[in-house]
Amino acid sequence: MNTINGKDLAAVVRGEVKVKAQRFLDEFDRKPALHVVLVGEDPASQIYVRNKKRACKRARVDSVQHLLPESTTQEELLELIARLNGDEQVDGILVQLPLPEQIDENIIIEAIDPRKDADGFHPINLGRLVAGQAGLVPCTPLGCMRMIAETGVSLVGKNAVVVGRSTIVGKPVAHLLLAEHATVTICHSRTRDLAGVISEADVLIAAVGRPEMIKGKWVKKGAVVIDVGINRLDDGTLVGDVEFEEAAQRAAWISPVPGGVGPMTIAYLLENTLTAAFARANQTG
Ligand code: NDP
Repeated sequence: MNTINGKDLAAVVRGEVKVKAQRFLDEFDRKPALHVVLVGEDPASQIYVRNKKRACKRARVDSVQHLLPESTTQEELLELIARLNGDEQVDGILVQLPLPEQIDENIIIEAIDPRKDADGFHPINLGRLVAGQAGLVPCTPLGCMRMIAETGVSLVGKNAVVVGRSTIVGKPVAHLLLAEHATVTICHSRTRDLAGVISEADVLIAAVGRPEMIKGKWVKKGAVVIDVGINRLDDGTLVGDVEFEEAAQRAAWISPVPGGVGPMTIAYLLENTLTAAFARANQTG
């Protein structure tokens, strides 16, 4: 068994972003800029936003934070987004989710200029992904695909099983796997015989959010296992959706939690910011 070290690989991706950020600075005479909007004081969101800021700094991407009070109205948030959409110096916009209940997430996501949609959650970008067109793709799925690429295992004709059908992980990663010519199965809470489906998976992506619910003995021998789940146990330990020790006995490659997909997600947020920056800069000038 080999571990796919997301922490080290994320550092490689950040290095790649740094090179691109320098090229952007040379060509367009300014640093690429990611604007992160945080509404309220959710502690987990505050940590994510802080980590994003640190990653930007390391990759020489400008990061600007907009910290708004919990009582912010939808109109106020829409006004900020409209201002960021119209600002030529803004390359990526990310609104940290979840939002307070008075704000409709879908309305906010759709208000972001799809060309600046660093998270890749805008329906136009999701539609482009399904249609196989170039666009901004959600960061966690991109991170998963890079991890698989690093194993050197080809996806062509392989059985890929995705457990979870969310719009931010399960569905987009399934489309990326399909684009790489895997035969893709998406499982969810109503799937019958999850163990049986998983036992056929050459590549398994777990994105459920239930601690170690995927048993090691279900994993096919020689499989590539990417564990997206981040679950905090009562004693404070972080675990994934897959029983790591047991699955590691059977898998050829497996990603750990923590130190797996998590750091890759942030690295690909930066990569998306650069993709957005170059696409817009080349379009406008
Ligand atoms: P969601 O809660 O949006 O989706 C979870 C999915 O799991 C749903 O499709 C649900 O099915 C399915 N599911 C729930 N129970 C079962 C079950 N018993 N058997 C099979 N499928 C089941 O979660 P997200 O996609 O947002 O996140 C998934 C996990 O990944 C979480 O732990 C989250 O913290 C983590 N995450 C990690 C990131 C990272 O950077 N590493 C980034 C994003 C998420 P149904 O649709 O039928 O309800």
